[in-house]
Amino acid sequence: MLLDMDLGVLLPSLIPSSQSVYVLVFYFVYLAVAGEILPGKVIRGVLLSDGSQLRYRCNGLLALTLLVAILGICAKLGIVSPLVVADRGLELLSATFIFCVLVTLALYVTGRNSSDKSSSLKPHVSGNLVHDWWFGIQLNPQFMSIDLKFFFVRAGMMGWLLINLSILAKSVQDGSLSQSMILYQIFCALYILDYFVHEEYMTSTWDIIAERLGFMLVFGDLLWIPFTFSIQGWWLLHNKVELTVPAIVANCLVFVIGYMVFRGANKQKHIFKKNPKTPIWGKPPVVVGGKLLASGYWGIARHCNYLGDLMLALSFSLPCGISSPVPYFYPIYLLILLIWRERRDEVRCAEKYKEIWAEYLRLVPWRILPYVY
Ligand code: NDP
Repeated sequence: MLLDMDLGVLLPSLIPSSQSVYVLVFYFVYLAVAGEILPGKVIRGVLLSDGSQLRYRCNGLLALTLLVAILGICAKLGIVSPLVVADRGLELLSATFIFCVLVTLALYVTGRNSSDKSSSLKPHVSGNLVHDWWFGIQLNPQFMSIDLKFFFVRAGMMGWLLINLSILAKSVQDGSLSQSMILYQIFCALYILDYFVHEEYMTSTWDIIAERLGFMLVFGDLLWIPFTFSIQGWWLLHNKVELTVPAIVANCLVFVIGYMVFRGANKQKHIFKKNPKTPIWGKPPVVVGGKLLASGYWGIARHCNYLGDLMLALSFSLPCGISSPVPYFYPIYLLILLIWRERRDEVRCAEKYKEIWAEYLRLVPWRILPYVY
C-alpha cells in the first residue's frame, strides 16, 4: 500500500484524526478494564533477584473473545464499521507511534525519579538520556496496579488480530477475498489464539524477565507487532496470487510442523522448569547439572523454539507467492531478531550456568537448525 502512494498522499494520511485517537483510547481502556475484572488463572512470574515474584492474571483469551464479540455485534448494529482499521491504518499507525513516544517519556521521567529498591522498580540509570529512554529504566513499571509490560505485549498481539480481521472485512467488501487471504488469516488467527491459550508461558520469556520497559519494547509491542506482522494482509488486499494445490498443501505443512516444533519446545521447557522429572517424549529427561534440559527439542538444538517460530513466520508469507519480497518482511526480520537474541541469550546463559552451560554446548552443538546453524 505504502509503495503505491506518493508523498503527497502519504503524508496527509499519516496525520491522526480524532476518530483514530478514539479507537486507540477505547482499545486501551477496554484492555485495562477487561484485564482487571475478567476471571483468569493467576500465575506467579519468575523469581526476581530480590526474591519477589510478580503475579499475572492470564485472562487474555477471554478478553480477546469478548472484544471480538462486542465489535462483531457493534458492526452488525452499524455502530462501528469493521473497516475502521483497514481504512485508517496509516493514521492509527502514526497515532500509536505518538502514544509510544509520550508513554516512554513518562516512563523515563517516573523511572528517573523513583527511589524504589525492589527488582521490579529499581531505576537503572546510565545517565545517557537516549540510552535510558530507548532501553528503559525500570524492569516492571506499573500504572494503576497494571503491569505495563504484560499489558503492552497483550495489546500488540490482539491488535495484530484486529487489524487482520479488518483487512479480511475489507477484502470481502471489495470482492477480492482469495485463497491466499484465507490461508494467511487462518494461520495468523491460530497463532494468535494459541498465544493467548498459552499466555502464562509469556511470563517466563526474555522480554518479561530480562528487558527493561523503554521505547524499544513499547514500540516493538504496540506498533511493530500489529502493523508490520500484518504486511502480508495489506499486500494481499492489493495483489492477486494464484496458488496451486501442491503449494497450498506445502504451505499447510510448513505451518503444522512449525507449530509443533514451536509449541512443543516452549512447552517442554515450561514443564521442565516446573518439574525437572517430568518425562520428555515418554522418557526420563536428560538433564545437565540438574538445571538444563538436554532431551526432546532441547536435545536437537539449543533454540528449537526459534526454528519453529521461523517456520510459522514463513508460513504466514508463503500464501503471497514469490513475486515480491515485501510480504517476506516478517520472516526476514524475525530471522535477524532471533539470531541476535540467541547470541545474547547464549552470553547470559554462559554467565549464569558456567560449566553446566559448557557441558550442554558439548551435548547439543547446534544453535537453531541442526547441521546448518
Ligand atoms: P526462550 O524461551 O528460549 O528462553 C531462553 C531462556 O530459557 C534462557 O535464558 C534460559 O533461561 C532458559 N534455557 C535455555 N536453554 C535451556 C535448557 N536447555 N533447559 C532449560 N532452560 C533453558 O527465549 P525467548 O524468551 O527469547 O523466546 C520465547 C518464545 O518467544 C520463542 O518461541 C520465540 O521464538 C518467541 N519470540 C517471538 C518473537 C516474535 O517477534 N515473533 C520475538 C521474540 C521471541 P533461565 O535463566 O530461565 O534458565
